[in-house]
Amino acid sequence: DAMARPSHVAVYSHEEDALYQRRFNLLNDFSAALTSRDQLRLVFQPRICVATDACLGAEALLRWNHPTLGAVSPGEFIPIVERSGLAQATTAWVLDAALRQQHTWRQAGMALQVSVNVSAANLSEDGFADSVHACLARHHLPPDCLELEITESAIMEEPLKAHATLADIAALGVGLAIDDFGTGYSSLSYLQKMPADVVKIDQSFIRDLEHGARQQALVKAMITLSQDLGHRVVAEGVESEAVLAFLRDAGCDEAQGYLFAAPMEAPAFAAYLRW
Ligand code: C2E
Ligand code: MG
Ligand code: MG
Ligand code: MG
Repeated sequence: DAMARPSHVAVYSHEEDALYQRRFNLLNDFSAALTSRDQLRLVFQPRICVATDACLGAEALLRWNHPTLGAVSPGEFIPIVERSGLAQATTAWVLDAALRQQHTWRQAGMALQVSVNVSAANLSEDGFADSVHACLARHHLPPDCLELEITESAIMEEPLKAHATLADIAALGVGLAIDDFGTGYSSLSYLQKMPADVVKIDQSFIRDLEHGARQQALVKAMITLSQDLGHRVVAEGVESEAVLAFLRDAGCDEAQGYLFAAPMEAPAFAAYLRW
């Protein structure tokens, strides 16, 4: 058929070339950053109980200060790292740093749970739960001071393997949260089978919540469904009092977002808590 479009049209542009080159360089440089001692650090964002205003926990988020590019956002480098073989080493770094900080806070009498984001690769890794257990032991910490955040899409990459790993982690007594809930393609039957304590509703549903009736109906349903299945619900990306008021009425358990605080370095976090 002479009118048929060609099945492949390859368009090479300098822009794509530059993007590819940047990703390639970032991956190489990140590998060096993991052993650099001064390029990576964690920041912490509080999670606030909607009913009492108390801070019950903090999410640890990775920051990278690249030697020539400066700050590179996790939104850019995490997907690159997760497509490479470096995801496991990255989680190990973050977990170790978060638990070291947690140990310091506990020594000072500051009791809260720290959440760490884990990658799909960790869920299919043999012995991941053992390595989490070993890291807790190394820092002399009880399992309930840690929560792991896993996205729906990470679970869906290898659901059976993921489910087994999550069951092992739950058996340790470490908390589990489903992150970015609503954005993946998980079926509700998986949610129902997950040993998760917490469901974090993705910020894309929370932003502009005060304007749309349909958006509000969706969020209310997500809160009710998750709670009926036995999960505690956290709303991500809470930026206004109006959104917080809506969430309070809807019975949401916890909230996280710029309304309370942006992610902070450990000393600023302790100051925020007036510790
Ligand atoms: P996430 O786990 O869903 O983390 C929440 C993100 O939302 C963080 O972005 C946080 O700074 C941002 N955020 C918090 N409150 C607000 C708000 O009110 N408004 C808006 N617009 N954003 C808010 P961040 O730190 O840039 O991280 C982006 C993503 O990168 C994370 O999403 C997570 O998927 C990934 N990431 C970050 N650190 C790590 C890590 O240590 N390991 C892994 N595997 N992934 C990480
Ligand atoms: Mg998270
Ligand atoms: Mg999230
Ligand atoms: Mg996210």
